Amino acid sequence: LYDRDGWIWQDGEWLAWRDAKTHLLTHTLHYGMGCFEGVRAYAGPSGTHLFRLAEHTRRLADSAHALDMPLAFSEAELIEAQRECLARNSLTNAYLKPTLYFGAEGLGLRAQGLTTHVVVAAWDLGDYISLQAAAIGLRALTSSWSRHHVNISLCRAKTNGHYVNSILALNTAVKAGFDETIMLDPEGYVAEASAANVFLLRDGVLHTPEVTSCLQGITRDSVIQLARGVLGLEVRERRITRDELYTADEAFVTGTAAEILPLRELDGRHIGARAGAPKVGQPIAGDSVTAQLQRLYHQVTRGELEGELQAFQHWLTPA
Ligand code: PMP
Repeated sequence: LYDRDGWIWQDGEWLAWRDAKTHLLTHTLHYGMGCFEGVRAYAGPSGTHLFRLAEHTRRLADSAHALDMPLAFSEAELIEAQRECLARNSLTNAYLKPTLYFGAEGLGLRAQGLTTHVVVAAWDLGDYISLQAAAIGLRALTSSWSRHHVNISLCRAKTNGHYVNSILALNTAVKAGFDETIMLDPEGYVAEASAANVFLLRDGVLHTPEVTSCLQGITRDSVIQLARGVLGLEVRERRITRDELYTADEAFVTGTAAEILPLRELDGRHIGARAGAPKVGQPIAGDSVTAQLQRLYHQVTRGELEGELQAFQHWLTPA
């Protein structure tokens, strides 16, 4: 990842990719206090666009504020840095990772006198999720690891340290032969996947966990708006139990990188069997709500905005 050409933005300057280094005593490396975003750019018929860049940048600024990390750049400056990062690296279908971290001025837990640094790196992602993977979906295991409690961490902040918990949960599931994990909150209600939000469909109504232990996902919000505004579906944000996922007609996970991936099996239960869903391992039905939302999401992210989808033009920032 580090030995290649390209440019990384750091605190207002452009560093050659190979020279973009930091000191070993940087505070965030030792304690995990930092925050970041994952943003996608897509090439489409009307050029390259960054998807919901303003919302991602706002969530980054909110994370910094919640963590009490002083940020020396405005959201407008960070938006420009991300746009320029794409251009300088000649990227179209890309993943951008703006990150805030504390410098190496000290290692005390008081975190006083530390500089907050900001970097923006971007790399080519191509079509990260193949059509095949998007149709076959995921087999998941409910994790024995709980997701964070609101009084243990700041669940709305996209904090580096949170991901220790995600990695433990994901790798336990992967070692057991699954693709993904579903994490419960400390009270046992469904929270989210390792790096994605979760939805279920039952009797034509979409349900998703309310934002307590899960991240306030921007794809989650896009899906809610598309489901309500374009498909005319009712969407309820509420507490959900794991057996509701087992007995759902459809389920899927959402995230900037994952986009929308069907959740086909949880803890050995075939989701949607009662509703006549194809066997796990076979592609989902083209007329399923999951497939309809995948098509809509594909169109809005690539700027294929015809008819009522023109209302989502403001989600796209030209590169
Ligand atoms: N939950 C977690 C823990 C995540 O890391 C992500 C990915 N950022 C999501 C949910 C989905 O959020 P978004 O749709 O904003 O990418």
